Amino acid sequence: MILRCIGCGREYDPNEIRYRCECGGLLEVIIDLGEVENVFDGKNVTLWKYKSFIPVEKRVSLNEGGTPLYRLENLQRELNMRELYVKNEGANPTGSFKDRGMTVGVSKALELGMDKVICASTGNTSASLAAYSAKAGIKSYVLVPSGKIALGKLAQAIVYGAKVIPVKGNFDDALRVVIEASKELGVYMLNSINPFRLEGQKTIAFEIFDQLGFVPDNIVLPVGNAGNISAIWKGFKELYKAGFIEKLPRMIGVQAEGASPLAKAWKEKREFKPEEKPETIATAIRIGNPANWKKAWRAVKESGGLFESVSDEEILRAQKLLASKEGIFVEPASASSLAGLIKLKELSLIEPDESYVLITTGHGLKDPNVIIENFRPKLPEPIEPSLEAFKEVL
Ligand SMILES: [Zn+2]
Repeated sequence: MILRCIGCGREYDPNEIRYRCECGGLLEVIIDLGEVENVFDGKNVTLWKYKSFIPVEKRVSLNEGGTPLYRLENLQRELNMRELYVKNEGANPTGSFKDRGMTVGVSKALELGMDKVICASTGNTSASLAAYSAKAGIKSYVLVPSGKIALGKLAQAIVYGAKVIPVKGNFDDALRVVIEASKELGVYMLNSINPFRLEGQKTIAFEIFDQLGFVPDNIVLPVGNAGNISAIWKGFKELYKAGFIEKLPRMIGVQAEGASPLAKAWKEKREFKPEEKPETIATAIRIGNPANWKKAWRAVKESGGLFESVSDEEILRAQKLLASKEGIFVEPASASSLAGLIKLKELSLIEPDESYVLITTGHGLKDPNVIIENFRPKLPEPIEPSLEAFKEVL
């Protein structure tokens, strides 16, 4: 195993604490694919089933992964599509896909002998880091954009025992402080710029293949800091290079309109440019300068996929649709994958006869306020506690 720069190709020892190349480029973990095991039999799916692909020896685990993959029978009929699935990552221990990265990242922190970890977060990362640090018995610090974090996520980070520090500014501002702190103060940084996080997240690809028994034509997922799309693509490529699969899926990344630097650059066929003031109801992807944008760009390009963006209204509509038609309650960022699919279908930019797996990244209960504030549920007046009164409202 080595760490390699995706820009200049320079290599580093994985036991050195290092987040970026000397040239500033992103690092990638290269594992030895000669030693991986073909365990893809559809049985007992959990993250650590794929341990031969995961480059750590220690294991801090809360039994993450093994999340359900549902066929969306009602929605595929309604949308007139042939084969539609959701991989529901909200079913992880802290309610988001971040647990996959943290089980590996916090294990790596222990291997490196670190007893303090830090991250900047829009919410899900902080909840996950806090839980895994608690399990590992180490100290965690999370920096969050002040006032822009979903209530459920904040509650999680606090109860798991993290030191939560609000930062005046947005996620990108908080991340800048974390990067400096990790250099100066001897704390281990577990943002998705840390390449070991992505080694956990790539197992989403393994599970999709394991659960379906085939590789779907398309993966559709939300893009915020752009680590997940990069990780899932890496997972499929490793399966391909190991000779376990014969085709690769297309990667379709969906951003929220108010925070869509990748989708804008893609659609306008120009250079990537960060956005100064990202704004969207989907707080988990409210990021103007995605740390992993280069890896994400490469994933979409290599796979023949695309980036698209959706409005907050489209996101809320998709969130309601997924819950009311399929019984799957996800947070707004997660619903952007369905919103993106619907938009791309309307624009005839995707093929209805192909198979699609939507990734929903976080549980709906993390952000209950968004439902109360946007749908303003109208309850009837309280009734007398009698069958008669009940019959009347029916
Ligand atoms: Zn480099």
